[in-house]
Amino acid sequence: MKFYLDNMLTRVAKWLRLMGIDTTIMQTTDTVLNDPQGVYITGSIKHYLNWPVERKLYLEEDQINQQLNLILLKFLSPEEIRPFSRCSICNAKLTAIDKEQIRALIPGRVAENFKSFKYCQSCRKVYWQGSHFDRINAVFRKSGIAK
Ligand SMILES: [Zn+2]
Repeated sequence: MKFYLDNMLTRVAKWLRLMGIDTTIMQTTDTVLNDPQGVYITGSIKHYLNWPVERKLYLEEDQINQQLNLILLKFLSPEEIRPFSRCSICNAKLTAIDKEQIRALIPGRVAENFKSFKYCQSCRKVYWQGSHFDRINAVFRKSGIAK
């Protein structure tokens, strides 16, 4: 299942990607609704009412936990969620990588303290299980994605 979010919801889109959900951010000016299997999510009530698609959701400005929780309740089952499998920046799938191969891309402190790393081959962002990971898991827990 693919998710399409309008660019008012960039933050939500990044969180969906961190949950491993295939998420495209649409530019408002060139919004095309041509995926019949897609789920379309907007921050604009006007878009919501006008979009001629079956699976759609209007999200009000709210806490990220509540926004993710609404999406989960309506469209996702727990087995579809794979935390840290997709890049939050560009949506590409992450691959596990040996620390030595990305040592030049990470701070020395991080290289010393962490063992397991994931890497985006598309935009070269490196992910590791540091404080960011804890913060993300805290949001997941509040959203009902128990881990
Ligand atoms: Zn990336």
